[in-house]
Amino acid sequence: MKPLFDPSLYQFDQAQPSYWEASAGDVNVKGKPLAGAQSCDVAIIGGGYTGLSAALHLARDFNIDVAVLEAGHIGWGASGRNGGFCTMGATKLSLKSQIGRFGIEQTRHFYQSQADAVNLVRSIGKDEDIDFLAQGDGEFMVAESPAHFAELQQAADIERRLLGLKVDLHSREEFAEIGYDAPHQHGAACHRPSFALHPLRYALGLAAAAERRGARIHPHSEVLSWHKQDGMHRLETANGSLIAKQVILTGNGFMPEHLHRGVEGRPLPLQSAIVVTRPMSASELQDKGWHTENPTFNSKHMFFYYRLLADKRFMLGGRANHLGDPEGAEKTFAGLKQSIAQMWPQFADLEYTHQWRGLVCFAMNFRPSIGRMPEDPSVYFAYGYHGTGVNSATWSGRELARWLAGNPSAKDLLPKHLPAIMQGRPPRFPLAFLRRQYLRAGMGFYRLRDYFDI
Ligand SMILES: Cc1cc2nc3c(=O)[nH]c(=O)nc-3n(C[C@H](O)[C@H](O)[C@H](O)COP(=O)(O)OP(=O)(O)OC[C@H]3O[C@@H](n4cnc5c(N)ncnc54)[C@H](O)[C@@H]3O)c2cc1C
Repeated sequence: MKPLFDPSLYQFDQAQPSYWEASAGDVNVKGKPLAGAQSCDVAIIGGGYTGLSAALHLARDFNIDVAVLEAGHIGWGASGRNGGFCTMGATKLSLKSQIGRFGIEQTRHFYQSQADAVNLVRSIGKDEDIDFLAQGDGEFMVAESPAHFAELQQAADIERRLLGLKVDLHSREEFAEIGYDAPHQHGAACHRPSFALHPLRYALGLAAAAERRGARIHPHSEVLSWHKQDGMHRLETANGSLIAKQVILTGNGFMPEHLHRGVEGRPLPLQSAIVVTRPMSASELQDKGWHTENPTFNSKHMFFYYRLLADKRFMLGGRANHLGDPEGAEKTFAGLKQSIAQMWPQFADLEYTHQWRGLVCFAMNFRPSIGRMPEDPSVYFAYGYHGTGVNSATWSGRELARWLAGNPSAKDLLPKHLPAIMQGRPPRFPLAFLRRQYLRAGMGFYRLRDYFDI
């Protein structure tokens, strides 16, 4: 199956012109492209947070011989180009439908795992000495209308009472003091323990840590074909081959669906795009009335995500078009800048220094997925984080490592100890080649809902 979007989104030899690439620091990942015939116990396809976290935990905690094959440089995919929100989410199911379908206990289990996942990122940063420039001490969800604030209040009550989450509510006046003021803000909810980080520094730091613990990391090693022979997996790259007993397949929005029929037609990649301004001085920022370093979302269906970066630049991200072509991307960037000027006129005079885009991954059931392929239980996978992978992909990588290291029986295809919401494969889309069209219709639907505020 061909990649869904425009080829410009799959140029593994080119880095995105992102602010993160320009400020990645000096972490040295030593690994070289795969060359010649090699073997390992566990091969991992994809060098993003899922694959790197799985590699780190397999090598460090279980002393398992593991090798990561990444098509681009380490963190080439979403892990090196996201907004750096280490926040909770990973599903697009509403709280009501989660509780209705899975019950309170499982929903609580899921949200506790999401909070654990945020703490896991912090602790990996500390334990492995990764300088990922942490900022903030919570995530803000800003109400776009008084009715949205009432919904945040209702949700906060359930989140605190039934799910055990830490949530504070701030009136419009309070949020103007601690966050920002603007005609569109009507108060905010703050969820903890979320924070923000530099995503590429985190990905590179994870890779370097995995290497120090004995994992082999191979950038610029796109898996071109995958066969099974005599019970062993054989992964071929341009200059080498890797034989492995087990494979962890990652990829999320960049999932190489053509490599395994067990994943074909199941992910729903969609584009997200980001723009970043020049840095502001402390006094300029004060004059503009911005008081928070917390990662922040607004409460629309087609929401924006925004934050101040460590060197006081303003960053804003949002959804992009359904084609993925460069011309469409330019329009998206222009639209994001226009939205900033409308929502925060005080930022309208700032020049923009960086703009880039990438793919996140949704699924038909709106849930993240961890499992083993029913066609071949020696293949493990995790993907579908619905735009919230900094914590979820890191956590899923660790959980895959623990599960695999426990030698589950071939019949155990589902990680029954994990939250039910995350178990198993998402369904295959009917007429999967039409996924971009489904996306277009879905985005139109949610834009209409935002317009009519329903
Ligand atoms: C613009 C943008 C903003 C985002 N903002 C946030 C945010 O603020 N907070 C948040 O939590 N999440 C955010 N996300 C989502 C988050 O980045 C992802 O959920 C997460 O990085 C997924 O990690 P992953 O390792 O599963 O996949 P990825 O990081 O996408 O890695 C998959 C890797 O697989 C590799 N690959 C593909 N095919 C092959 C092959 N054949 N052989 C070898 N390698 C291959 C790719 O090169 C890629 O590097 C954002 C995503 C984007 C694009």
